[in-house]
Formats: sequence, C-alpha cells, structure tokens
Amino acid sequence: MAARLLPKTFRRLMVTRLSPNFREAVEMQTAPMEEPGPSEVLVKTRYVGINASDINHSTGRYNPTQKPPFGAGLEGIGEIVGIGKDVKSLRVGQGVMYMKFGAFSEYSVLPATHAMPVPDIRPEFLSLLVSGMTADLSLREVGRMKEGETVLITAAAGGTGQFAVQLAKLAGCHVIGTCSTQSKVEFLKSIGCDRPVNYTQEKLADVLRKEYPKGIDVVYETVGGEMFETCVKALANRGRLIVIGYISGYQSDVGFNPSGFGSTLAPRLLQKSASVCGFLMFHYADKYGESLTRLGTLMASGALKVQVDNGKNHTKRQLKGLEEIFDGVDYLYSRKSEGKIYIDLSPSPHPAATAAKL
Ligand code: NAP
Repeated sequence: MAARLLPKTFRRLMVTRLSPNFREAVEMQTAPMEEPGPSEVLVKTRYVGINASDINHSTGRYNPTQKPPFGAGLEGIGEIVGIGKDVKSLRVGQGVMYMKFGAFSEYSVLPATHAMPVPDIRPEFLSLLVSGMTADLSLREVGRMKEGETVLITAAAGGTGQFAVQLAKLAGCHVIGTCSTQSKVEFLKSIGCDRPVNYTQEKLADVLRKEYPKGIDVVYETVGGEMFETCVKALANRGRLIVIGYISGYQSDVGFNPSGFGSTLAPRLLQKSASVCGFLMFHYADKYGESLTRLGTLMASGALKVQVDNGKNHTKRQLKGLEEIFDGVDYLYSRKSEGKIYIDLSPSPHPAATAAKL
C-alpha cells in the first residue's frame, strides 16, 4: 500500500445510542488507524457536510436493523493518503469526495469506486453531493419540470433548497421560495428566485391563492406538516409534489408530522390529476455520475452558485473540528444557516497523533 506519514490513531463520531437528539446519540471515539484493502483508499478528511438527515441516521431510521455503535455523518471531502495495491485510477495526494455512513471521521477508508475525484478540496464541491444531486435528480426524474412552469421550493435558502431554486430557474421556470428571515429573502433574490416568501411575514397560503390562482406545477417539499398541506392544496391541475423530506418532524420520536388530510388526500389529488411522490437519493445511485457532471459543469461555468456556510450566523462564527459538528447540527436546526453547512476538520488537533508509517 502506498501511504503518507500517518498518526497511529484517529478520532471519529459514533452513534452509541439511537436518538433524534444528536448530542445524546453521538460520542467522539478514538480508533486505531485503518489500512485500506487492495481496492480501497484511505482519505484524510478536510471538510464534512451537515445534513438535516444526520439526525435521521442517528435515530437508525435509514436502517432499523442496525444497532449502535455505528459511524455518524453522511459525506466528506479530503485527500487520499493511502491507497490499495489494486487501485490504478487514483493516487496519493488526490482530492476526492464521497458519501459514506460514518463520514464524521478524521480518516475514512472507502472503496476506490466511491471516491469521486475533485479538482480542488473545497466545500462547494462537497455541497454537490447530497444537497445538489437531490435537487437535480428529483426535479428531473420525479418533478419532470418544464420550461414555463411554476415551481415552489420550501426551505429554499437551505443546503439543498438553493440548488432547487437555481436549477428550476435554469430550466426556465418561475420560482417561488419559502424562508424565515429577511436575510434569506435577499439571498434568494441573489440566486434568481422570482418570489421569495418569508413565511414569518406573509402567510404562504394567502400568497399562493392571490398571486398564483392557476396553482403550482411542481413543489419541492422539504418541511412537512402544515407546509405539506398548504402545498398540496396549492397544486395546479396535473401538478407534482415531490416529498423531499419533512424536517419539521425529524426531532420528534416518530420522525414525522402526521398529515391532517387523512382519507381526503386521494380525492384531493384525483380532482386535479395531481400527484405526490417521494424521493430518496440513494434510490437513484445509478444516476449520480451524470448528475455530478451536470452540476459540476454548471458550477464551473458560473451558472450555478454554491453558497456555503461555516457558521456565519452561529455564535462561534466558524465551525471547526470534529467536536463542533455537534454545533453544526444544532445550527441547521436553528434555521439561521444559509446555503450548505460544512465543518472544517483541518485545524482539529489530535493530541495522541504520533507520526508513524503504516
Ligand atoms: P437545510 O435546508 O440547510 O436546513 C434546514 C432548513 O429547513 C432551515 O434553515 C429552515 O429554513 C427550514 N425549516 C423549516 N421548518 C423547520 C423546522 N421545523 N425545523 C428546522 N428547520 C426548518 O437542510 P438540508 O440538509 O438541506 O435538508 C433540507 C430538507 O431536505 C430536509 O427535509 C432533508 O431531509 C431533505 N433532504 C432530502 C434528501 C433526500 O434524498 N430525500 C436529500 C437531502 C435533503 P427556513 O427557516 O428558512 O424555512
């Protein structure tokens, strides 16, 4: 195995108890340095992405049969520092990003086929993974949005919402985006959102009824509960609502807010030939390559702007090191973040680190 000088141990965040309270579920542990197998790589993490679903993972909702301890975190980007003997397409020193349950770790071993090369180790590239691909693939495959349609994005100024807004604009749609602060309204305007709605100032249902009497063609719905109901009611004939998530319920024990529609959902949809369809990105793994190519090309051309947030509205301002991932998750749920939250692991000192060649 080709390798750099590495510490003998590294730290990682492990789910040790199933809970939607990330601080209660997760603890820092030290582990012996791992060695990549013949077709694996060892990556030194530089940045990790924070996702609303970090607490779905820490609750075991993705895999109810999995028992703790297991690794926390969904995605990271960093430098290859060790490489298995059969890996010919990658090299030590190369920047790669990856999706992996257990990404909140100073070092990660992963199959070489899961390591996606990047031109630079920047959080903007990391944002293309869970957040960017979810917007791209769901609007395309499930929303089937077309030029001239009206598209509503909820949590529009968030990690994935910012991508949905811009991709819908690039597709020639009229875009409405919901958010909860004036600063987010300004951000949404800056990325082309036609009608930002600060729902703490205006009632979304009233705005939609008055300004969009024909209804909404495509909804990118991430909030759930009352927001979901408002959006279903606002669908146009043949409208499509994509259930991307229901963040308003994630912190509860059941993980969702019961729908107030009950048995009336079917007639509501039938009366408009409308549809409600779920989307979970893992089910579209066969399309990751084409999606990343599309997003990367748009980003490189400047057509797609990626807003990243390292804690600018958090009291700590900059979130660094594995220990501040806890703050990052709280920050996401505080609703104060704008764009994709990331944590910089590079300055995280490891007291037990002793250079040793594997
Ligand atoms: P995010 O949008 O960066 O942050 C969450 C935002 O949600 C907040 O800033 C807040 O914005 C809004 N929000 C509304 N009601 C909330 C509540 N009750 N509690 C907390 N936040 C609330 O987070 P993200 O990681 O990109 O995820 C957004 C949604 O997309 C989540 O539902 C997530 O599960 C989903 N998602 C799904 C997939 C998939 O494969 N299906 C993949 C990625 C993300 P405002 O205050 O401005 O409304």
